[in-house]
Amino acid sequence: MASGRIIAIANQKGGVGKTTTAVNLGACLASLGKKALLIDIDPQGNTTSGMGISKADVKYCIYDVLINDVPVQDAILPCGVPNLWLLPATIQLAGAEIELVPTISREVRLRRAVQPLRNVYDYILIDCPPSLGLLTLNALTAADSVLIPIQCEYYALEGLSQLLNTIRLVQRHLNTSLEIEGVLLTMLDARTNLGLQVIDDVKKFFREKVYHTIIPRNVRLSEAPSHGRPIIHYDPKSKGAETYMDLAKEVVGLE
Ligand code: ADP
Ligand code: MG
Repeated sequence: MASGRIIAIANQKGGVGKTTTAVNLGACLASLGKKALLIDIDPQGNTTSGMGISKADVKYCIYDVLINDVPVQDAILPCGVPNLWLLPATIQLAGAEIELVPTISREVRLRRAVQPLRNVYDYILIDCPPSLGLLTLNALTAADSVLIPIQCEYYALEGLSQLLNTIRLVQRHLNTSLEIEGVLLTMLDARTNLGLQVIDDVKKFFREKVYHTIIPRNVRLSEAPSHGRPIIHYDPKSKGAETYMDLAKEVVGLE
């Protein structure tokens, strides 16, 4: 029986590479023979469309699981890649942040829904929205660990103390075993010194938690979602594909 690891991909900043990492790490883990599930918990549904799933074709999404008690198995879709499945999000989820407020055990709904899936998948990746609201709290409460993507730019460390405070609060009150899985530097522009400075700062702060793999800025990574395909299928020879594959190996402990 699989004993799946549940990893929340979180950073309340938008545009730092959460979704790109969810889709591509998921696909790379799948290609390493790991059974992987992507859970899209961002109302924007970018992981859902990035996997080529049309929202019009989604019968049940994560909203129905969280709010309407639809069984999680009924909402999971195959997405045309061996070993990879998706629990989609649609814009309906935008209401959940408010609708959850008065409900009982509002922070643990996702945890309850995904616990049984540990026996089915090796890795469950949760793509969080760019906020620290109830949806992200649900993800952090459901997860074994949190993977934090940080964009290699000037304001990289700004806002991180808020994220770390939230993680500490969750550890204290909702999920005592939550760990930091790792910190991933993304969108490195090798032509500037700024990127190198950011790498230095982030390593000083997070030390051995920082992945050796650094994701470069790579235009093929930004093109892949509009083709509805992970980078290793869209352009397997690209730098983006190579580095996300390296990351997957680091995550499973092969490197
Ligand atoms: P988030 O989910 O944190 O908001 P995304 O993963 O959606 O961030 O990334 C924001 C934008 O940057 C998207 O258009 C995405 O395609 C692009 N992007 C992400 N990572 C890279 C990269 N390494 N190189 C080039 N573009 C990237
Ligand atoms: Mg996103």
